[in-house]
Amino acid sequence: MKAWRIDQHGGNEVLKRCEVAPDALPPMSVRVSVKAVGMNHLDVWVRKGVPGHSFPLPLTPGTDSSGVISEFGPGAQAAFPTLQTGSGVLVSPGISCGHCEACLSGADPLCTTFGILGETMNGGCSDSLVVPVSNLIPLPDSLSFETAASIGIPYLTAWTMVVRKAAVKPGEWVLIQAGGSGVSMAAIQICKLFGATVVTTVGSDEKIEKAKAIGADFVIPYRRTKFRDELKKILKLHGKKGVEVAIDHVGADTFSESMRSLAWGGRLATCGATSGSEISLDLKALFFKNLSLLGTTMGSKGDLIRIVELVAQGKLIPMIDRVLPMSELRIAMDLLETRKVFGKIVLTNEGERE
Ligand SMILES: [Zn+2]
Repeated sequence: MKAWRIDQHGGNEVLKRCEVAPDALPPMSVRVSVKAVGMNHLDVWVRKGVPGHSFPLPLTPGTDSSGVISEFGPGAQAAFPTLQTGSGVLVSPGISCGHCEACLSGADPLCTTFGILGETMNGGCSDSLVVPVSNLIPLPDSLSFETAASIGIPYLTAWTMVVRKAAVKPGEWVLIQAGGSGVSMAAIQICKLFGATVVTTVGSDEKIEKAKAIGADFVIPYRRTKFRDELKKILKLHGKKGVEVAIDHVGADTFSESMRSLAWGGRLATCGATSGSEISLDLKALFFKNLSLLGTTMGSKGDLIRIVELVAQGKLIPMIDRVLPMSELRIAMDLLETRKVFGKIVLTNEGERE
């Protein structure tokens, strides 16, 4: 079968599409014929490498996949009898043991064995991938493979921040940094679903209307305005001094301003640090203003099942910037790195869902 492989870290030149033997099919696992893969920034980190972190190379990237079951490993079909060969599935990207205290509490990312497809084991940028049967979510009829592949990491990460950690409530104001990124777009939609007012930031003017179209109430183009002044103006008009919640995965460039934007008692949730992870923190502000800082990675498969239902009902709508053939992984990576997208880039092995 054809698969993209990373043998060593580096630029796009380390991505090689080659003929490889299919992975073995252990008990309780399933081979999925991949139809679509949603790209995430995580895929870029896997290619580039992260100082101090080792990836199991060679590795096939691709975190969020959808496809059809092509083969069951021993015991797998009996464990999930509603699924058959040919069933459409969404593959939950988090891999964990399934039986420890963390897993059984719905805190899969805290499992000591937690890993992510395309990061700690082969992912979906391939003709097929092998996953534990417990990672499959049956594909609702209303969802295309492309949409299904656009849900996993962005929505799960955003859901954990907005719903589980910051516990956003109706009527609250939420600042969401980098409104054009996959996680932030998901966070905007989830905040609106929970009845919050959303202020977001975007890097270019053409993203303003797009951010409003997915539900943002106020959009600040941070490159040509002074973010803090703009936010203060908006809040003052509505009799507010700060936002109850800030969602920030940009990191060093924005973290201090996000924290300063919080009202007394505010909560800041973070799941990433794209612009750098070292910040200075004024502890006086943290305790005097009774702020909460909430860190998180990914989320539980249980929450992903709920999210997929909400997408199937049209209450959350993944935005796809463009769909490319699987052969164009390098172009997809370039687009992600240069931030020239608004929404997901999806790679497909074939055309539409049959
Ligand atoms: Zn576990």
